[in-house]
Amino acid sequence: MKTVLETLQGGTAYLEKRGVADARLNMQLLLAAELGCSKLDLYMQFDRPLGEDELAPLRELVKRRGAREPLQHLLGEVEFAGQVFKCDARALIPRPETEELVLDLIKSPPLLAERDRIVDVGTGSGVIGLSLAHSWKDRGLDIVLVDQHEAPLTLAKENAEALELSSSVNFVQSDLLEKAPGPFKLIVANLPYVTSSEMADVSAEVLHDPPTALDGGADGLDLIRRLIVDAATHLSPGGNILLEIGAAQADATQMLLKDGPFNEITCLTDLSGRDRFVKASRTN
Ligand code: GLN
Repeated sequence: MKTVLETLQGGTAYLEKRGVADARLNMQLLLAAELGCSKLDLYMQFDRPLGEDELAPLRELVKRRGAREPLQHLLGEVEFAGQVFKCDARALIPRPETEELVLDLIKSPPLLAERDRIVDVGTGSGVIGLSLAHSWKDRGLDIVLVDQHEAPLTLAKENAEALELSSSVNFVQSDLLEKAPGPFKLIVANLPYVTSSEMADVSAEVLHDPPTALDGGADGLDLIRRLIVDAATHLSPGGNILLEIGAAQADATQMLLKDGPFNEITCLTDLSGRDRFVKASRTN
């Protein structure tokens, strides 16, 4: 019979051997999920022997993590901007960079009035649009969540339901803004931006994200380029566009915006200091 501590140590060693980054943290989170407690609570019960009924399902999870299934898929959820979202292979796993984008937006919101329309394009699991809907719940905004594919949109709807935000948002299945016409006061998007050559090098975990959520074509800008063209006609004058981009795409994205009716074009860095977000306003 193994104790909690022995299981933690054994599992950590196994995951390390399999090349899993942050093996101990992964093991703590899997163990806590299996035991239905918090990571901190594990410390209180290091000496507790685990029964086979607890060990068998845990072994299965650890084996899958060792085969490089993402931790978020095994846990089935992620915390994002203070809310818990269901997370599975139907959509991109929400990344900390996108959380930065949302938290920044919430901290310094653009000027918005009642009934103003906002769209999250390529919403995936819905984290951007639903976080904004949660934070700006009382402002009477019309928030639209768009995705081209049915599977992520279904996940986003499940998340809206679980977070009691279904009545605060609308969902549209559409190729970018084709079926979600403006005018919008804010267009926000984390579109696929990984370049074709980077796609060949992604980690084993990232291979579990839907390729359609990552692959941005030869220079990674296929969809971003099209959305910037759409934004010229779907943003209201003075409205804002905010895009997450790849670290090497700041200049190219800003050039695309300079070719259109946009001003106040700025690039912001993420917490690692990499160019990650570009924003601009539609000229009046
Ligand atoms: N940040 C993601 C990654 O590097 C890419 C997300 C995206 O293409 N929008 O895997």
